[in-house]
Amino acid sequence: MFFLRLCSLCVAVLVATRTFGAEPETPLQTPEKSGHKARAEQNITFNSVQADRPYIAMTFDDGPSATLTPKLLDLLATRHIKVTFFVIGENVAEHPEIVARAAREGHEIGNHSWSHPNFGKMSDDNVRSQLRRTDDAIRSATGNRPNLMRPPYGSITAREKHWIHDEFGYRIILWDVDPYDWKRPGPAVVRNRILKETQPGSIVLSHDIHPGTIEAMPSTLDALEAKGFKFVTVSELIRMATPQASHPSPQPGRNAPTKATPSPSPAASPVSSPSG
Ligand SMILES: [Zn+2]
Repeated sequence: MFFLRLCSLCVAVLVATRTFGAEPETPLQTPEKSGHKARAEQNITFNSVQADRPYIAMTFDDGPSATLTPKLLDLLATRHIKVTFFVIGENVAEHPEIVARAAREGHEIGNHSWSHPNFGKMSDDNVRSQLRRTDDAIRSATGNRPNLMRPPYGSITAREKHWIHDEFGYRIILWDVDPYDWKRPGPAVVRNRILKETQPGSIVLSHDIHPGTIEAMPSTLDALEAKGFKFVTVSELIRMATPQASHPSPQPGRNAPTKATPSPSPAASPVSSPSG
């Protein structure tokens, strides 16, 4: 009887996991030990970007959702805000037209695996297949291959980061702001957490598969804008962080290019924020 109950519980947990798309799990972030290795990883992995101007990247994972993603696209279009979507391949295959629309409207599309497994516990071949299928689905939907990848749950080993970067050319994108929206805490909590943690250069994680997240967005985006933040895609944010070839502007005015330095901060990997 006890076993029966235990098994029912397992099944329930598994179902909940598949339904909500993201759940707590300890990412397998391998700490960088050598300075050389850490430097090598600096241009591959990003949790945030060090910026002296208030640019940020909003990112939405696990979609597209048939109903919620179009709703989000509508409100982003109204505000002329560009974001980055880390999409699941099997959802892309189901709704390629939504991904095509997002790309057409100026948003960036990143690879978030085919079926949201834990890369840190998988063979290279399985990881490769997850990424390849999704890469193909994104290309088929939008005409372009993605440049970015976010591992499900932020779980990826240092070794995987390197071969994935070498083979696919991807940058590995994590995050520094996590509202834990997958726990569905309600729109007000999602908004308040994002407002509290976001700073210049932040990469904000959330999910366009939860109604509360979409509900939180109008007031969240308005409040971020009111605080002076400007929204760019992740690749734009990273480009802004690339050291300028020319000498820095002596007077960083409103129209000057953003001067920023790369700050992938691999040490700040979201070990305690296993969303994604
Ligand atoms: Zn995810």
